[in-house]
Amino acid sequence: MTIYQNIIGGNAVAGDMGTQPIYNPATGEQIAEVTLSSAAIVDQAVAAAQEALPGWANTPPLKRARVMFAYKELLEANLEKVAEAICTQHGKTLEDAKGEVIRGIEVVEFACGIPHLLRGDYTRNVGPAIDSYSDRQPLGVVAGITPFNFPAMVPMWMFPMAIACGNTFILKPSERDPAAPQLILELMQEAGLPAGVLNIVNGGKPAVDAILHHPSVKAVSFVGSTPIAEYVYQTGTANGKRVQALGGAKNHMVIMPDADMDQAVDALMGAGYGSAGERCMAISVAVPVGQDTADRLVEKLAPRVSGIKIGTWNDPDAEMGPLVTEQHKDKVLGYINKGVEEGANLVVDGRDFALQGYENGYFVGGTLFDHVTTDMTIYREEIFGPVVCVARADSFDQAVSMVNDHEYGNGTAIFTRDGDAARSYADQIQVGMVGVNVPIPVPVAYHSFGGWKRSLFGDHGAYGMEAVRFYTKLKTVTSRWPTGIRSGAQFNFPLNN
Ligand code: NAD
Repeated sequence: MTIYQNIIGGNAVAGDMGTQPIYNPATGEQIAEVTLSSAAIVDQAVAAAQEALPGWANTPPLKRARVMFAYKELLEANLEKVAEAICTQHGKTLEDAKGEVIRGIEVVEFACGIPHLLRGDYTRNVGPAIDSYSDRQPLGVVAGITPFNFPAMVPMWMFPMAIACGNTFILKPSERDPAAPQLILELMQEAGLPAGVLNIVNGGKPAVDAILHHPSVKAVSFVGSTPIAEYVYQTGTANGKRVQALGGAKNHMVIMPDADMDQAVDALMGAGYGSAGERCMAISVAVPVGQDTADRLVEKLAPRVSGIKIGTWNDPDAEMGPLVTEQHKDKVLGYINKGVEEGANLVVDGRDFALQGYENGYFVGGTLFDHVTTDMTIYREEIFGPVVCVARADSFDQAVSMVNDHEYGNGTAIFTRDGDAARSYADQIQVGMVGVNVPIPVPVAYHSFGGWKRSLFGDHGAYGMEAVRFYTKLKTVTSRWPTGIRSGAQFNFPLNN
């Protein structure tokens, strides 16, 4: 059986804390194991990354970009293989997985522009015969800790830009689906990246804690659930590191009375149930404005939710697959039970769904609740499953307040034909990423990704120019060359006279 090892300095290195099983979510069968690592293994990875650092940091940006160009081509040539590595351990459908990889490749394409992105500023004559230039320099050894739901894309939000900026990198991927991270690292080595510039350490909390406490790790990027994001931010910053920690979400889609209801329902189906709801930008709450809008929405939505085609990743007709693990399935079922207990109206019940021939798989059917109120657990907490809650609002203002009062602020969308309503929504809403008639407004690679409130701890979002700022530190050099000017010792603050 395959055991996913660590990759340190280009070599496979076993962990020292045993292994953890990896399952096929469609069958419930164990298909592999992943090694688990302690602080001693993290030390080895940091040492390898530090050894590689001077050479890589001093490699001209154009040469670093050439590695990115080669990497992009290798990823494209291996798209199907990377997507299959995702599917077999995560469970999402093949087309969905390919989409994930393509969005990751787009960040690599952005990283190809690093010579231009790192170009500094220069001013001649900031004073008499004095010139000044600003430059962005790499931080050193940096680390990324990533979740199970995008095992290729989220690591690619991080390491291509970190490495292009001249840092060396340690990736601690999710221990639930290690195949894709390993494959994309191998392709990076094939692209010509020197050994030690990118390393993988597999493991759980002990490996994360070792990264957070290691004095030579200068910055940590984290993506995962909010409690762990907050812990990573607090622990990492207390240890003097720069940290960006992206957390969980509860994304609302507001549907105005004038919205094109067919378009809104199509959007809600894909954004709510695609990838079985295991997306941080999934729409998990629909907020129709007005009772009539709500009735029309639920009437159109319910048959669509009951009719979702559920299947294994390689079934070309499947619209969604299973959840990632049995524990996660139990958690999602627990939320559905809680919703019923707390009095929400269960319009479509996915709890008893079983796929013929795959009865041990971690499948949950599409589920729809109506008349969900803001005090209910299923409204307040992230479910991360194929469950959409309809929470009715009486007015636009009430819809805005609901979204703004929620602890999360990752993504949101408004569906309307009214430009004033759309503009006012985008202005007022306390959420980092807003869609107008766009259900999953994930910014493209040359913008940046990031939520507000308890969906992001730290000052910088992921990829785009935010990544250049996060993975570099600014240096400004002011220089004077001997010109025969002698002004004598100056004890006052230097002025530009
Ligand atoms: P998770 O928080 O359980 O795990 C994320 C990472 O943290 C993993 O690498 C894991 O090994 C590590 N980890 C887990 N428990 C830990 C602990 N106690 N101490 C230290 N490290 C620990 O998240 P997940 O279940 O893998 O992923 C789903 C979550 O990620 C959802 O909440 C989702 O919203 C969020 N997510 C957010 C974004 C975003 O951009 N905001 C993107 C994708 C996923």
